[in-house]
Amino acid sequence: ILLGEVNEIIWCNPSAEKFFDMSSNNIGTKITYILRQPEFEKILVSTTRKSKNHENKPHIILRLKKTFEELVLSVTLIPYDKKKILVLIKDVSDLERIENTRRDFIANVSHELRTPLTVIHGFLETMSKHNDKKLILSQALPLMSEQTVRMTRLIEDLLTFTKVESQGLRNEENVNIPFMLSTLIIEARSLPGTKHEIFIEHCSELWLRGNAEELRSAFENLLSNAIRYTSPGGTIKLKWETLAKVIRFSVEDNGVGINQIHIPRLTERFYRIDKSRSRETGGTGLGLAIVKHVANRHQAELRIKSEEGIGSKFYIDFPMERSFTNT
Ligand code: ADP
Repeated sequence: ILLGEVNEIIWCNPSAEKFFDMSSNNIGTKITYILRQPEFEKILVSTTRKSKNHENKPHIILRLKKTFEELVLSVTLIPYDKKKILVLIKDVSDLERIENTRRDFIANVSHELRTPLTVIHGFLETMSKHNDKKLILSQALPLMSEQTVRMTRLIEDLLTFTKVESQGLRNEENVNIPFMLSTLIIEARSLPGTKHEIFIEHCSELWLRGNAEELRSAFENLLSNAIRYTSPGGTIKLKWETLAKVIRFSVEDNGVGINQIHIPRLTERFYRIDKSRSRETGGTGLGLAIVKHVANRHQAELRIKSEEGIGSKFYIDFPMERSFTNT
């Protein structure tokens, strides 16, 4: 936006028009009617128009409320042609959002790694002070090893997450979903903590075009969650079924269930309802975030239905075009 001698708008580009809802009627209007921010007015007053010195470019970050979101604008004032000022505005809202997400992510990962490390460190310290090292060692070793397993699981999930978050979908192949589900079930049943009734309630014969490793990881995460959040003796049903417009993978359990208020946030990284249950059962807090990304990469949608104390149903709806009959 170009300003004249008394800070009136004398020109603006189409982007500024669109952004601030301006039209040719606004030519001649003072900029402070459009950008009503005291901080902006302050730097405007202090900007000298006489200076041709390009070093003198006052800069400010403004935050504007626009309907539901906050906009972050980077504003630079450039004295121009003696009596004019060029106001250069850049919308940096997305950049700031990405930066905040990155910061939160690093803070979360550090916190997740720090907890097991603190436990291991504690044991090592006790051991160095204690005379009966053998006794301490026999008690500490299994617990220390549990913590290293936890760290390894976190690192593995972080690597998977980075993979499914960053690149586009690669290595698409014809995936035999019925076979994949039957092996998943066998593996799940043989896990030491599994004392549930797990079965495939319905299985379409259709195969799916996609990345086998990612699909397996998503299905495995949902099945392992169902086991971890259902008491022993509970029932877990898997389905692979064709509906009117989609082909659906679903896992249904009659476990602890989820209060509605948590559902919209479940796929956020490290979001957990019951932190101790998640940790005790080997959760990293990344499972559903991975599932959601894998679904998105296959143009599919992850949906969650649940009732506290009754059970949960997680389903992934794949576009029908991805499915086919293997001949
Ligand atoms: P975690 O490793 O903690 O299980 P996830 O991302 O897989 O992380 O899941 C996020 C949270 O969603 C869990 O901590 C748990 O509170 C909730 N959750 C996931 N699956 C289920 C389920 N089948 N039943 C009840 N709660 C679930």
